[in-house]
Amino acid sequence: MTELNEHLIEQQGIDEEGRQKIMALHSERENMFAMMEAQDPTTEQGRTSLGEWAELVEQLEYRLQEAWGFEQNRDMHSWWYYVPHCSCPKMDNRDYMGTDMRIWNGDCPIHGEHTWAKELLEAEDPSLWSRFKNVMYALRPRHPREI
Ligand SMILES: [Zn+2]
Repeated sequence: MTELNEHLIEQQGIDEEGRQKIMALHSERENMFAMMEAQDPTTEQGRTSLGEWAELVEQLEYRLQEAWGFEQNRDMHSWWYYVPHCSCPKMDNRDYMGTDMRIWNGDCPIHGEHTWAKELLEAEDPSLWSRFKNVMYALRPRHPREI
């Protein structure tokens, strides 16, 4: 059960209906996390499924921003790196919130080895990927499926 930030509720002028809406979105997110938890990240099918769920979480973040009365802005998303099986750095990504940078762990089954960046680096020089895969500084993908 998600606890809402009461200070923020007041600041944004969220009424009871708005509160219910936000709570419903969070329970949807919790269900998504449970579905992701159940996936096997060691299989190709599991990773594909995780990628699809991860994108649904991003879509839900837009709806959360709307419900909170914030602008819909991908740079302000904060749940994408908390999805189950994601091994991307939490603190670093929190620090980069509000910028268009996202830091991926190259070994993350969701955001790691399937990145467009891998192809990009390998096309440049096959050794680049193995050198940089552990901590990757990459620009936010323009489209989620490029993750
Ligand atoms: Zn990740």
